[in-house]
Amino acid sequence: MGATELSPDVAIIGGGLAGSALALALSQTPLSVVLIEARDPSQLQQPSFDDRATALANGSKRILDTLGLWDEVGCHAAPITSIHISERGRFGAARIIAAEENVAALGYLLENRVLGAALWQSLSRAERFTAVAPAQVRSLEPGHDTVLVRAETGGREIDIRAKLAVAADGTQSQVRELLGIEALQDDYAQQAVILNCRTEIPHGGRAFERFTTDGPIAFLPLVGDRVATVWTLPQNEAERVMRLDDRAFICELQNAFGYRLGRLTKVGQRSAYPLMRLRSESLVAERTVLIGSAAVNLHPVAGQGFNLALRDVAVLAEVLSDALLESGPQADPGADSVLERYCRWRTRDQQRVAAFTHGLIRFFGHASAPLAISRGLGLMLFDLIPGAKAGLARHTMGLSGRLSRLARGLPLLPRRGASSGR
Ligand SMILES: Cc1cc2nc3c(=O)[nH]c(=O)nc-3n(C[C@H](O)[C@H](O)[C@H](O)COP(=O)(O)OP(=O)(O)OC[C@H]3O[C@@H](n4cnc5c(N)ncnc54)[C@H](O)[C@@H]3O)c2cc1C
Repeated sequence: MGATELSPDVAIIGGGLAGSALALALSQTPLSVVLIEARDPSQLQQPSFDDRATALANGSKRILDTLGLWDEVGCHAAPITSIHISERGRFGAARIIAAEENVAALGYLLENRVLGAALWQSLSRAERFTAVAPAQVRSLEPGHDTVLVRAETGGREIDIRAKLAVAADGTQSQVRELLGIEALQDDYAQQAVILNCRTEIPHGGRAFERFTTDGPIAFLPLVGDRVATVWTLPQNEAERVMRLDDRAFICELQNAFGYRLGRLTKVGQRSAYPLMRLRSESLVAERTVLIGSAAVNLHPVAGQGFNLALRDVAVLAEVLSDALLESGPQADPGADSVLERYCRWRTRDQQRVAAFTHGLIRFFGHASAPLAISRGLGLMLFDLIPGAKAGLARHTMGLSGRLSRLARGLPLLPRRGASSGR
């Protein structure tokens, strides 16, 4: 028996946070979408949907709101009302305070599991949407008018002939490999140990980022009295603390973080993630585009990875919608001109955020005394110069640069019956 054939406008490979958000955005356009995911989405075991919590920038909150998702997930999201940045054993600290930036919150902490479940639930109601999962992609062949994605699901072959393929298949992107696109990689030789814990003093919406000689530690507010902890350590140290019993672990974590939230009273399950910086040498190939961590993967120090990915999603959805507005139903979503437009829009933001994140790690990772003093001074000056804080705050809140329609609260396409003037 021959392979089943599907012919959508867009085939998305990877149904993690980036791929499923793109599918949801495109469900608000006339484009048909097939989403191919390696894991079984009902098990919610994708790497994207694990125990981690993601710090969502205000720009990301707006995108999720415009997609109609915030109503569902907002009650599970904890607002960050201030961020305290310090260095262990050094003077100087900086604070970014939401009220001073005239925003209700600097960002929101949301558990990946909650966001992933809401995305897939919304997709189950979407029109012109088909999920192929669990499925393995076998090959990808870009052609003149279409790109052929061959996948295997439940022991049978399925051919997906789309006008555009989107690689949202994560840092180790198979699509990137199949297309022979090189990626620049920097292994930080560090792991992030992730856990949720309870503290003696309520967080009150405060987030803490503390730089230590081993790596940064973040304590981020969750809904209720829990705190999400991201503890970055050299690889062998991370492996060692992962093996400690809870009492010994609490003792070491407390020692590294200090007592700003009083005693740590309870720690939850720990998991560890190897950290690397990755940048794909190209964001596009013939009839194919790379988004999310398939395109750029960052150190989690500044909580920017998914925020960047969501901006990829919003811009790609807008560029595809613009093609529909310009050419009507005959529009070709995989045309070179469409992909070039996407590339031009996204490259600068990606490079800036990657350089900023990498710079933070290099700057605070250096133990030399003169640099340590200048860091202390830098943090103090940064705290005293409102312009510097406002600039950084706007950038990390995802509110700087050219904003997509979704990030401005506008629909991708004019609503039916609305007047055409913009
Ligand atoms: C410790 C840690 C903390 C973080 N904290 C933050 C934060 O606070 N804020 C923030 O913005 N970002 C944060 N990030 C980054 C964020 O988690 C990632 O940017 C985000 O998960 C990327 O999503 P993605 O969908 O691109 O990739 P992934 O999450 O890797 O998803 C890829 C998906 O593709 C599927 N897949 C893979 N290969 C195939 C294939 N061949 N065929 C079909 N499907 C396939 C996988 O099963 C998976 O579901 C953090 C990252 C880490 C490691």
